Parts: sequence; C-alpha cells; structure tokens
Amino acid sequence: MKGWTNYHNHSYFCDGVEPLEEHVIAAIQQGVLHLGFSSHCPLHFTNPWSMSNQRIPEYVLEIDRLKEKYHHKITLYKSLEVDYFPDGNFHNQYWKQNTGLDYTIGSVHFIDQFEDGQAWEIDGTLSVFKKGLEEIFHNDIKAAILRYFEIFHHMLDQDCPDMIGHLDKIKMHNSKEPFFDENAEWYQKSIDQVLVHAAEKNVIIEVNTRGIYKKITAEPYPSISILQKIQALKIPICLNSDAHHPKEVIAEYGNVSRLLKELGFDHLMVFDNGVWLDRKFDHTGIFFD
Ligand SMILES: [Zn+2]
Ligand SMILES: [Zn+2]
Repeated sequence: MKGWTNYHNHSYFCDGVEPLEEHVIAAIQQGVLHLGFSSHCPLHFTNPWSMSNQRIPEYVLEIDRLKEKYHHKITLYKSLEVDYFPDGNFHNQYWKQNTGLDYTIGSVHFIDQFEDGQAWEIDGTLSVFKKGLEEIFHNDIKAAILRYFEIFHHMLDQDCPDMIGHLDKIKMHNSKEPFFDENAEWYQKSIDQVLVHAAEKNVIIEVNTRGIYKKITAEPYPSISILQKIQALKIPICLNSDAHHPKEVIAEYGNVSRLLKELGFDHLMVFDNGVWLDRKFDHTGIFFD
C-alpha cells in the first residue's frame, strides 16, 4: 500500500480552523494513511494560538472517537506540538504521560522574555520579531540565534521529544528583511552542533512544508543546506505540512518529496504500533508494504 503521512496538524482546538473530523475527511480524500493531530500545547501564560488546558479532555476524547470511527480508512494519532522553555514548565514527557499522547513534536517558538515578563515570539509578526531583537538582544541577531539553538540543545538534553518541529523557523522573517546570512560560518557551525546532538539522541527531524505553501520561505524548514547535512548524518526525517486548514494536509508534498529524493534521502519515518520505522517513498507517496 502507498500513501502519505502527516504527523503535524492543527485544528480549531488551537490556531487552526475546522473541527478535527474535517481534517480527517480531507486527509482520506488526499491519500493520507497516517494523520497526527498536534495542537499547540497549553502554556503557563495566556497565548492566543495555544490550546487551553481546559480543552485537553475534549481534544483527547474527540481524537479517540475519530480513531475508532475511521480506523478502516486512516490511522489517527494524538499528539501536541510542545513549546520548550528551558526554565521549567510542563514539557514533552509531562504531556506524553499525562495526556496519553502517541508522540510529541518539540518546537521553539519563544526565546526568553521582555522586561515585563512576556515571552518573545520569534515566528509571529515582523514588528514583534524586531522588538525582541532590539529589547532583549540589542539587535545582535547572532546572539539571538545562538540562544535559539541553545534552547534546542537544552530540550535534547533535558526532555527529548520524538520529533523536532521546524528546526530553522528562526529564518522565517529573512524573506521580508535579510536579518542574517544562512551561509555564514557561525550559523552553519551552530546548525552542525545541533545536528550532531540530534543524531546522538536519535530524534526525528521533520521536513515542514508550511513556509513554502504560505509563500513565506523559498525552501522548506529546514533549508536545503541543512537537509544535506541531515542526509550525511543519516538523521531520520519525516514529512509534515503543519496544516492549519484541511486543504493544507499534503500541501507541497510532491515538490518537497522530489527534492528529498534529489538530496539522496531514501526513507521517511512512519509511526506504526508505537514505534518509528523507516519506509521508502517517491514523489507520490510512501511505500507501506
Ligand atoms: Zn510550530
Ligand atoms: Zn505547528
């Protein structure tokens, strides 16, 4: 059997739209065999795009109901995209155990905080990005990015998820203004260090198509230069769209899977009965047999 997988999806439980069932129906129609829901996990402060703690029981029940209802057509998974904060809070392992998740995606959307205690969101608006860069890092983009990757190192050491979400999301605003050069030696060195650490931990790195179909980035997260290093290090990858709408479920999968084949990747990771397995793929899907 051949079909796609997507382990990174949002719905109206956080900042996506439409009920979970609409996402399931769209996924079945588009040849998806595995669909994992990964709402933004509740945070220790109010945040407009995160799921609230109160909605966790409803989220869990609804995924369980849909797992049962559609099990002949698609395998559904229960997950959260967990924000990592190095100074405490509930992390990947907490959510996995307390919510009965199948896996977690570990992402960094926040770096440190403003003087008033508000966390700096790095992939929100351009003005918030500039404000944090100026007020927290005195416009030293290198210091901000080194801190961003330091948080990944901390997460890998302290609370390793199953999968790293959009590893180089920090480049997002480069398309509007060139904040840094991705080819700079210091940047590539910091990438090398994170990848070596990820390889040691045997964590999966997702290839995320959202920047491309939202026309924010020309390349996926992570960029091609990073994907080449991932391939050389034989770090396992999977392909996700980070969909926030049912129509985005396999957006740009054809093009990005072609790119991955050109870069020498042979396998994508597939979650099966509680374990991650590598499976061959081409630009039309993953071979499940
Ligand atoms: Zn994210
Ligand atoms: Zn996401």
